Amino acid sequence: MKKKDIRALSREELRNFFQEIGDKAFRGNQVYEWLWQKGAHHFEDMTNISKNTRDLLNEHFVINHIKVDSIQKSEDGTIKNAVKLFDGLIVESVLIPTAKRTTACVSTQVGCSLDCKFCATARLKNMRNLNPDEIYDQVKAIDQESRLYHNRPLSNIVFMGMGEPLMNYNNVLKSIDKITSEEGLAMSPKRITVSTSGVPKMIRKLADDEVKFNLAVSLHSAIQETREQIMPFANKFTLQDLKEALQYWYEKTNRRITYEYVIWDGINDTRADISALVSFCKYVPCKVNLIEYNSIDDPEFKQASSSVTDTYIEILERNRIPVTVRRSRGKDIDAACGQLANKQ
Ligand code: SAH
Repeated sequence: MKKKDIRALSREELRNFFQEIGDKAFRGNQVYEWLWQKGAHHFEDMTNISKNTRDLLNEHFVINHIKVDSIQKSEDGTIKNAVKLFDGLIVESVLIPTAKRTTACVSTQVGCSLDCKFCATARLKNMRNLNPDEIYDQVKAIDQESRLYHNRPLSNIVFMGMGEPLMNYNNVLKSIDKITSEEGLAMSPKRITVSTSGVPKMIRKLADDEVKFNLAVSLHSAIQETREQIMPFANKFTLQDLKEALQYWYEKTNRRITYEYVIWDGINDTRADISALVSFCKYVPCKVNLIEYNSIDDPEFKQASSSVTDTYIEILERNRIPVTVRRSRGKDIDAACGQLANKQ
């Protein structure tokens, strides 16, 4: 029998486990406290649990903790952690400090299940989904670094590291439950943004599950053919389906979407591209976040000139669509968007 990661279980699931084996549900609370409040690394440490029960836990479960394997610091203050998982696989997470905020950017999969041509993570094989505790631990580690290096707790979290969060739906939501709970980091979901390349079915599920965090969608083109060229999976997840899913999201949540958008030379730099984006933005209340392209050594992709960005901004603003520009952070240590690929 393969042992399960006990920290992937919610309090309720642990209580159920004990009930099912004929013990008291409240034993689940005790073990949960050992795992989360007291940070136990071994069942043997759980001194108020009987030896028999500890042996039983040992038979069924393991206690996993991540290990921050190495830390790289950028000249702009950005910190990148290489995080070693229990099975030796590595993911990366990033701390991004600004004057007002410190943001954690965390990974949700080892590698990625999608195939965006401009993203370094897509070149890795998708090895596996991260467990909820593995996602939570990344946030926790960055919170500690934020306190240590910047004398303040973490203020925001973005699920924009390695992987497609909505392809690891349950574990991502469980990790957010933990991050927002009193016994976790008690963070407001308003300070959390999940970024997806746009999986329509899962966006609908988020709406049905009445999540309270923010949603960002990596759009990059509002023209189906162009989007398919740079994000081949988009032939299955079409713009039409995406649009309908986003409308559904807005009806249910009343929260506007952020579209992430990189402008590349010769790919999406024409007036037609801008017009398509403007039309797409009319479907649902939204804002556009223009992201600086971070090179991944592919000659096909080059950031468009700043005059093209200016034209985008001008036309979006003329159409009263809020637009912001995200400057790259941590480029010198390959910590910027799309660069996470375990180069070390
Ligand atoms: N899979 C999710 C989250 C990870 S990517 C998603 O696609 O949204 C986080 C953001 O970085 C996405 O908007 C993605 O499109 C963008 N990105 C990927 N590669 C990039 C690159 N080389 N330069 C700039 N942004 C990039």
